[in-house]
Amino acid sequence: MKCSKCKSESIIQLTNNKIHLCKSHFFRYFEAKVIKTIRTRKLIEKGDRVLCEVRNTLASIKILKQYVDWNVITLEVIYSGKGSQKQVADYCKANKIILTNNKVKKKKKQEFTKMALEQNLDDECRDILVSQFSDKINPGNFGPTAGKIIKPFCLMLKDEVNLYSKLRKFNLKHSPQKQNKLQKATSKMLNEIEKKYPGTKFGIINYFKKITLLLRKG
Ligand SMILES: [Zn+2]
Repeated sequence: MKCSKCKSESIIQLTNNKIHLCKSHFFRYFEAKVIKTIRTRKLIEKGDRVLCEVRNTLASIKILKQYVDWNVITLEVIYSGKGSQKQVADYCKANKIILTNNKVKKKKKQEFTKMALEQNLDDECRDILVSQFSDKINPGNFGPTAGKIIKPFCLMLKDEVNLYSKLRKFNLKHSPQKQNKLQKATSKMLNEIEKKYPGTKFGIINYFKKITLLLRKG
């Protein structure tokens, strides 16, 4: 298959619009979409002190570093995964970013105005469904921001984040977040349905957005 933009060899077909992209156009798509989420949803404001939690990929540092270069934010990184300490430390050193000790005290965390997480669209879908299954819905916890928490990848599929990280050599030793039984079962079910009916995850997110808008209006 050829890239829909430049006719080079395609490496991915996007789920939401069936477009094929080559490596360099996939990088552009990925970075532009994340930056658009940050901009339109006001994830970052001038003067923010951002703590970026890194678990499985260096991708969020790469994106947020641009805001440091543009003199918009200050940035520190905290690594909460296991087994890639050196890789994270080397990357931060090369990019002149402070790597904060992961035993950062609660008081120190309060000094930051934003905390960036790796939460992706798959995680959001799972959490939305789990909250419905267990009748504990709290719309404030979903979407790109929740208090100090910001989720630059919340509109990117897990597969897209993984592919981007793999191609940029940003992958870290896999450190999955702990999931309870219901979360695990929901993720499994979601992946099975997505496989049979591609676009389901986008459908859940879009439906949820509409519902929360209606609730706010109501
Ligand atoms: Zn291309």
